[in-house]
Amino acid sequence: MGSCPQCGQSVRLDETNPWRPFCTERCKLLDLGEWFSGSFAIPSDEPPHGDGSGTR
Ligand SMILES: [Zn+2]
Repeated sequence: MGSCPQCGQSVRLDETNPWRPFCTERCKLLDLGEWFSGSFAIPSDEPPHGDGSGTR
């Protein structure tokens, strides 16, 4: 037994669990999603909207 890195629930870490070390597919996808969004976060060069200067 171990604990899911995503939600902390106890989880089986053997071949009966296709999502190990996560408890469910959902937790696995959530964790991957966080990893991707963290790694591929590209800083934007565009200025924020609504500064209101120089329009018109
Ligand atoms: Zn989980």
